[in-house]
Amino acid sequence: MGYTDDDLRHAAVLRDLALRDTEVWKLVEALTTEVGARPAGSAADARAASWAVAACRGLGLANVRAESLPLRIWQRGPASAQLVAPSTRPLVMAALGNSVAAPAGGIEAEIAWYPDLAALKADTSDHEKSRANGRIVFIDQKMERARDGRGYGAAVPARAVGAIEAARRGALALAIRSIGTDRDRIAHTGAMQYDLSVPRIPAFAVSVPDADLIARLNARGEPMRLQFTLESRSGVEATTQNVIAEVPGTDLADEIVLLGAHLDSWDLGQGAIDDGAGVAIVTAAAALLQRAGKRPRRTVRVALFANEENGFDGARAYGDRYGNVVHQLVAESDFGAGRVWQFKSRVQPAAQALADSMAQQLAPLGVAAGGYDGSPGPDAGVLMRRHRWPAAQLSQDGTNYFDVHHTENDTLDKIDPATLPQNVACWALLAWLAAQSPLPFGPPAL
Ligand SMILES: [Zn+2]
Repeated sequence: MGYTDDDLRHAAVLRDLALRDTEVWKLVEALTTEVGARPAGSAADARAASWAVAACRGLGLANVRAESLPLRIWQRGPASAQLVAPSTRPLVMAALGNSVAAPAGGIEAEIAWYPDLAALKADTSDHEKSRANGRIVFIDQKMERARDGRGYGAAVPARAVGAIEAARRGALALAIRSIGTDRDRIAHTGAMQYDLSVPRIPAFAVSVPDADLIARLNARGEPMRLQFTLESRSGVEATTQNVIAEVPGTDLADEIVLLGAHLDSWDLGQGAIDDGAGVAIVTAAAALLQRAGKRPRRTVRVALFANEENGFDGARAYGDRYGNVVHQLVAESDFGAGRVWQFKSRVQPAAQALADSMAQQLAPLGVAAGGYDGSPGPDAGVLMRRHRWPAAQLSQDGTNYFDVHHTENDTLDKIDPATLPQNVACWALLAWLAAQSPLPFGPPAL
């Protein structure tokens, strides 16, 4: 069983319309201008949800609603860091998300430098013998630039679990080289974790040029002392929202094709590439389907998830609420604003031929077929694994994504308006063809 000629003709219509789309830019321009940074549970996050509801209604989408959920949030306070030996050198830094505060007055200690997380893990956890004991651990984990972003997965454990490994060895605090590919004097934040079995120590990232300086001083064999202050609050009770909007289906209206993005952002920057672009792309794609006039068989649902950045509360709440609803597809746009270069699916074997047809429709947009092991983005990935829902991945060119990811430089000017319509075209095609499929896509092999 394949797609009908009618379905494929409309796919071509959508593709052509999308390449002339002007809504997508207007959406991301508006979100970054009218709201800006919107960490989950903040006043700006609530404004973002109101903005999204109004934007989706304005585009003619149906069943638009904000679904509230409670959560506990982390809040950044003032922070600073400097080397105080061998000489005083101010450092550009940012606390990592979830970091506990330093004691009033801060912490000053000698640096125990490690080239990467593996080197720290290789150090003994016997406090008497570990270099980390009583010091500030510095992990100099470098990140490789790549179109598919694979350098992030390789480097990010230093940020995520570095404080656990440092505390296990008696360290007073953790500092890391920013997980990023830029050479700018900006620090990259992002979520980190603690482990109940070891003390919670403060953790922060310094800019890449500052990490380079620390590495050069380390190479000279001079003892370095670092002093920092860091204020924060954890576990603050708050409310956030998933925002939902739909293009209602027809004969299979109770089955869902989910186009996801996340509405929240880190508190630095404007949340333009992460993930204002994704919000704009999937919303514009659904709006295009709506505008093009032909109603899909299944319901196409835009889900703008809450708190992707620090806990996936929105994805989990969505799964709790809709776990019993048939999902034909889940996918998420959350890798910036670069062109889509590859399509991957994760559907039941009998539906792989339909995925191949989708790939053929995407090919004129410069998208390569990438196989059946798709991973659909962070929130959609949570849902795929938890509910065994079928998924798709539209891989964007992420070569420059990690230059500004989770930094104050994540601002609208980093988005090339010219690359957005191609994204809208890919998402509109994906949504339409998933909605028209003569076969269920699931359950996939995980
Ligand atoms: Zn993101």
